[in-house]
Amino acid sequence: MAAQSDKKNITIKLNDYCINILSPQKMEINGPYKNISNEIGKKFLSLILKESFQKLLIKYETSNNSDELDKVETKLIELLGVPEELPTYYFELAGWHFSFKPPDIVESVEGPGDKKLCEQIRRRFVEFAETEQGQKLLSDFLHIDDDDEDYDSEEVTIKGKILKESEKAYFFAASKNPPLDLVEDCPPMWFPKSQTTLKDSGELVMPYWLFNSRFSSIQKKVLDEQEQRHKEIEAKLIQVLGIPSKTTICDCCAKVDIPQEDMTKIESGQLLCPECFKSLRAKS
Ligand SMILES: [Zn+2]
Repeated sequence: MAAQSDKKNITIKLNDYCINILSPQKMEINGPYKNISNEIGKKFLSLILKESFQKLLIKYETSNNSDELDKVETKLIELLGVPEELPTYYFELAGWHFSFKPPDIVESVEGPGDKKLCEQIRRRFVEFAETEQGQKLLSDFLHIDDDDEDYDSEEVTIKGKILKESEKAYFFAASKNPPLDLVEDCPPMWFPKSQTTLKDSGELVMPYWLFNSRFSSIQKKVLDEQEQRHKEIEAKLIQVLGIPSKTTICDCCAKVDIPQEDMTKIESGQLLCPECFKSLRAKS
């Protein structure tokens, strides 16, 4: 990314952090996590007097060569200890859309409600994402760290392997020509044929355990458990964030986006919003 510079300011964008140099002694850093911004700022100030660092900044500002810029950027990221760009996760919950950078940055909350409700849910989400319990639930919900194999029991290790291998198996199934390096990654015991035969024939082969009922039953159990867990977390999040279960339209005034639980069904079968119901009662 090229440096944007006007007469005075130099702006450096490194991953999620933006460093705005106003003068050699003054700068602002914007990015997620204030404490990390502060750390980057401290490092920046400790480096700014070094000639080599100044040269790097000038290169960043003036270079038109994208390869060189990439190198400068990498070097700056390393020197300043800028953390990697945080992935953004998007998820949907009962018609609401959340954009979230784990562990605790809530980017946006949108849903079928008025501004006030959106703001309320957003605020609750921010509060929840800052708690330890919230971070754990959210990372479970979004399957973050699924690749980290810090399982503590042998059974879970097997389950983890099975899930991982099943992904590979689907990949094989989707491909007429399984890439041989992937085949080699799998332990030979998973295959009905030797790797040499596989290499020679290049045919579509599924791992042996897929045909083994014991493994497929464990796999089913694992997937069922995951789905169940997902549902539980979903229900918990909906409750914690105070998301109205569903919104609907008032049959009387045609107002939209009213939480279903606020509606009242009257004798005629019409659904009324709180105001319309109140005025109907006042009339009768
Ligand atoms: Zn109404």
